[in-house]
Amino acid sequence: MLRKFINRVLTLGNKTRPVAQGEPAIIPVEGHGIRRADISSGSRRVCEALSERGYKAYVVGGAVRDLLVGAHPKDFDVATNATPDEVRRCLRRSRLIGRRFQIVHAYMGAEVIEITTFRGALGDDAKTDEHGRVLRDNVFGNQAEDAARRDFTVNALYFDPQTEQILDYHHGVADLKQKTLRMIGDPKTRYREDPVRMLRAVRLAAKLGLSIDPAARRPIREMAELLENVPAARLFDEMLKLFTSGHAVKCLQQLRAEGLHHGTLPLLDVILREPQGEKFVMLALANTDQRIRQGKSSSPSFLFATLLWHEVTVCWQRIQQEGESTIPALYQAMDEVLKAQGEKLAITRRIASDVKEIWALQPRFEQRAGKRPYGVLEHPRFRAAYDFLCLRGEAGEVDAALGEWWTNFQNADGEARAQMLLPAEAPKKKRRRRRKKSSSASDETAHETTRNTSEPDAEQDDE
Ligand code: ATP
Ligand code: MG
Repeated sequence: MLRKFINRVLTLGNKTRPVAQGEPAIIPVEGHGIRRADISSGSRRVCEALSERGYKAYVVGGAVRDLLVGAHPKDFDVATNATPDEVRRCLRRSRLIGRRFQIVHAYMGAEVIEITTFRGALGDDAKTDEHGRVLRDNVFGNQAEDAARRDFTVNALYFDPQTEQILDYHHGVADLKQKTLRMIGDPKTRYREDPVRMLRAVRLAAKLGLSIDPAARRPIREMAELLENVPAARLFDEMLKLFTSGHAVKCLQQLRAEGLHHGTLPLLDVILREPQGEKFVMLALANTDQRIRQGKSSSPSFLFATLLWHEVTVCWQRIQQEGESTIPALYQAMDEVLKAQGEKLAITRRIASDVKEIWALQPRFEQRAGKRPYGVLEHPRFRAAYDFLCLRGEAGEVDAALGEWWTNFQNADGEARAQMLLPAEAPKKKRRRRRKKSSSASDETAHETTRNTSEPDAEQDDE
């Protein structure tokens, strides 16, 4: 019965496609099923506070879209006709954010609700760069204009918690039902205004299982290079969203299918051309997807450490062949790769330093004698570095037994741990000679050198 009604309302939505410009289709709760109780208490209270003072306030965008497909929204954004200053007067714990287009953050318990004032249509005088990317658009407008400024039809849905109605300006509900991601307006113009919309198209399609409408899909390949003009920090944020969406593997496949992996992560296409690099990246992303779908966290540093690792190993080998010894060569390689990425992708300094720690711990896992393993175990980045090691084992890059040894070592008690240690390593002099020959201290070499070494020396070396 309910289903019939929903279908009727939705087909009605289709039939009445040419809704008068600026007039939304109003879908009652029976037509969409979203109740007041489904939105977060923070966003509900924000909307209440604004409407008590006579303003319009709706939950908008991703949250409505996600609730409609039965997904769990990441956050609940609110759109209103109140200006930022007026919003601030209605909500005690709130503050203004952003210089370009001011929005308000309201702190409702543990929740932060982003409140945006309806944006106006882009005027002819909007400031753009030489490629047409909009640099400034801080004009307020009415709700219809706000809807037209959003990217995809499924993102231009407004849920009114008071009436439980959805205001649908661009047939987003029907598109969602037909599993189509459709751009509002002319896709080429919209990509030119903001090239990040190409990445958003891929991410949202992968996340929601939608197919990108051909008109929005077609121009992507030829316009992909516009991403090069996007500020690095913005690209970084979007890549992070993409890879932590829980659908990273699908996103990456689609990025490649659309020709978008060039220029987004400059080294990613290089890495993916190498079979070993590709295997590792795909394993890492599948692993991240699984974690996120299980509700676990995934750190950006771990992610970027995996994405760039293959490049580091290639660089590391080259520098060693040029005559540098193992560890300094690794540090040089890390810096080189991060610098190359940093030019395009603003990996924050904090993340870069965590990434380096994860990488730098890898050769230390090979040393399983004396006190060294205890030091590694206590390292603040041990957990991430150990997960990284296991991934390398899975990819066949190191002996999986090494990862297993560390699994057992962590779980063992004091006595058992001590018994697991390999015999102590060679004294410094001999190791220096050995370093020149091999790129990293393997299990076997550690054994070999132990045979002609003396305990005290090796222990001192551990300090
Ligand atoms: P998610 O939160 O799942 O990543 P989202 O669609 O909610 O997806 P947000 O970045 O939270 O993405 O943006 C909120 C809303 O703002 C979107 O639903 C859309 O309506 C609008 N929006 C975001 N980015 C753009 C953009 N680049 N161009 C036009 N509208 C945008
Ligand atoms: Mg959102």
